Amino acid sequence: MHTASHATGVLSVDLDALARNYDRLSRAADPAECGAVVKANAYGCGVGPVARRLARAGCRRFFVATLAEGLELRELLDDVEIYVLEGVLETAGEALSKARLVPVLNSLAQISRWAAPGRRAVLHIDTGMHRLGLEAAEVEQLVAEPERLAGIEVCYVMTHLACADEPEDEHNAEQLARFAALKAGLPAAKTSIGNTAGAFLGPTHCGDLVRPGIGLYGGNPFVRRANPLEPVVRWQARILQVRDVPKGASIGYGATHRFTEPARIATIGVGYADGYPRALGNVGAAAIDGVRVPVVGRVSMDLTTFDVTGLPRERVGEGKLVDLIGGGIALEEVAAAAGTIGYEILTGIGKRVARVYTGEGE
Ligand SMILES: *Cc1c(COP(=O)(O)O)cnc(C)c1O
Repeated sequence: MHTASHATGVLSVDLDALARNYDRLSRAADPAECGAVVKANAYGCGVGPVARRLARAGCRRFFVATLAEGLELRELLDDVEIYVLEGVLETAGEALSKARLVPVLNSLAQISRWAAPGRRAVLHIDTGMHRLGLEAAEVEQLVAEPERLAGIEVCYVMTHLACADEPEDEHNAEQLARFAALKAGLPAAKTSIGNTAGAFLGPTHCGDLVRPGIGLYGGNPFVRRANPLEPVVRWQARILQVRDVPKGASIGYGATHRFTEPARIATIGVGYADGYPRALGNVGAAAIDGVRVPVVGRVSMDLTTFDVTGLPRERVGEGKLVDLIGGGIALEEVAAAAGTIGYEILTGIGKRVARVYTGEGE
């Protein structure tokens, strides 16, 4: 493992801000309980420090995507509930049981694989995502044949909304109505509905347990509303070299940008192999001491070039830190420029980028 001081890129995660976002989500969701989604290495932020800090902030229920993530989290936290969204795959039963992981059952086949007295599970009902979860016909079959559960204790009946980030979208009401109708025939159980956005949309969208992910890490859960959460991550990279280029020169692969005036270029040691999207070539922007600098030329595998002509020479030397996210550059701005969403940017930040933690708890 490299140390932060040697890494060319550093992702700083503010654990106090993370805990404040958890508090904010808990208050918004109240009286629903607030869980935390820490799949994909806690959205790239590092599951160890993140999960421990959230547990200290009072979180008792964690969601992960896979068995492997569940096993890793169980090593970190002994006394919390861990729900595995992929459910129980062919040979996973024993490993789940041994680590006291609770599968989210997504089909009748998964139910029969897991069914045994005393075992606990979440039942996932698909109400319109058509991705994972019991479909309507399967729920009806389960209602007709409740013995299929064979003594499984159902902790929650869950569903997932396709358009929670657009609260006015009619899909939300349709899915909620379908959920109410489908679960009515099942044995009474608590419900889990909302993601980050759902936590802000009232009891109908929360259920008894909300499952926020992106908002914990400072991402905006809404497409058209101001972000109710505070930033948690700052992605910085060091300048490797500064050079002056003459009028008429071009830069980078494909010579996609040509300078019409003499310019000064700063090259950083982060590229698309680190998760800085190649789509940001000639359209992205970073910041140096709060001053915006545009990406010029293509993003390379390990390098990206910025036009720093507008900055005083003494402020842009080798070793100087450039803000890729944070320091005046919003996660959503980077995502939009790259034609994607904050989730993909965060979860794509690569292994070469050192994670460092600020705030109480590490
Ligand atoms: C990833 C995920 C979440 C978290 O969603 P955010 O939009 O990040 O808050 C919640 N529920 C399920 C089923 C998920 O897969």
